[in-house]
Amino acid sequence: MAKILMINMPLHGHVNPTIALTKTLVERDHEVTYLINDEFGKKIAPLGASIITYESTIGTKVKFSDLFATMSNIYYKALEIAGDFDCIIYEMGFFYGAKLGEELGIKTVCLNTTFVLNESVGDDYLHGNRFLRNIRNSKAFRKALSNLLVKDKSLRRTDLIYEVLDHKPDLNIVYTSREFQLHNEQFDEKQFVFIGPSVGGRQQESDIPFDQMNGKIVYISLGTISTNALNFFKTCIDAFADTDVSVIMSIGKQINAEDLGTIPDNFYVYPFVNQVAVLEQSDLFITHCGMNSANEAMYYGVPIIGIPQRADQPLVANRMNELGLGEVINKKEVTEFNLRKMATKVLNDSFYQANMTKIRQEIQSAGGSGKAADEIEQYISDRCQYPTKLAS
Ligand code: UDP
Repeated sequence: MAKILMINMPLHGHVNPTIALTKTLVERDHEVTYLINDEFGKKIAPLGASIITYESTIGTKVKFSDLFATMSNIYYKALEIAGDFDCIIYEMGFFYGAKLGEELGIKTVCLNTTFVLNESVGDDYLHGNRFLRNIRNSKAFRKALSNLLVKDKSLRRTDLIYEVLDHKPDLNIVYTSREFQLHNEQFDEKQFVFIGPSVGGRQQESDIPFDQMNGKIVYISLGTISTNALNFFKTCIDAFADTDVSVIMSIGKQINAEDLGTIPDNFYVYPFVNQVAVLEQSDLFITHCGMNSANEAMYYGVPIIGIPQRADQPLVANRMNELGLGEVINKKEVTEFNLRKMATKVLNDSFYQANMTKIRQEIQSAGGSGKAADEIEQYISDRCQYPTKLAS
């Protein structure tokens, strides 16, 4: 039995994939403590982990200042409590996990819920953006960026870009398949273990009336962050009202359903749905291509129309398009006509479904949380790999 500390940012896309792993580690009799905010702690406690909370001001509208302030809170709380843990498992959204492990002399494992980052993947992110590339390649700019974003005086001294792109522990768990990872040939098989998406451990029940729905089911969601998109959701209504599909639309909590005007009979609109339960029933997923949503689409074999909004989403959408799993619409080119045309194409061309079926098999057999737990146990028991405490 090991004493394990899990650390995460209070965001659905970061916490959801860790749920099945937490459950598996608890079931294997490890003593798991999860460091998270109060709201998400309530979701994790029933899994059998002890919860220790930190303060966070991250709201539905996610701001950099809140993200970095939360990371500082996590860092200092972890320094306070983590002394006698055997291992720290942190999700990649907490940028200082590897540094924390070195500071404490405790092994760390990074959970990568989107593509693993390195220089090449970083280049893909910055493609076409000379300003950001210049920042990355200049020592002075890198320092200025840390100073701008990281308010905490002590953490500010570490190079933020190094922490995000290059500072990796000896074990990294990646929640997708090796095939889906960008530049996959650059990631050593021992250090980077691809386990496929984690959709287990989440409530499957749902009160959505699937039995009342006619025709194919189209599910629309922009995830949990980029949901301040009244015009987008209205355009979706215009595109699919009076068509023979049923549409489930998760609009998030930043707008109200009343502001959408009249909701057609073939629409089912919610602020939040049980996405995995919905995907199990869906024929097409119109998505922002957050990595979790993309993984969940692949897990359930649902072809997509990707409408990326920010962050890694353009890369995820392009990768899906490259693998023939769906099509992409630029967010500035979303019109009633484009949506309907693309939906007709993806719903009716068996090409997309055939590719989805292939990747679905690969992703479902990648090993999931059981494989992650096996790797973590092996890594913890391999005592000689403990990092030595860095001299300050
Ligand atoms: N999600 C959900 N119901 C919703 C919208 C989202 O359960 O109505 C879940 C979804 O299954 C996924 C996560 O929230 O696990 C969103 O993560 P993703 O990386 O796709 O996007 P983000 O919200 O981080 O932009």
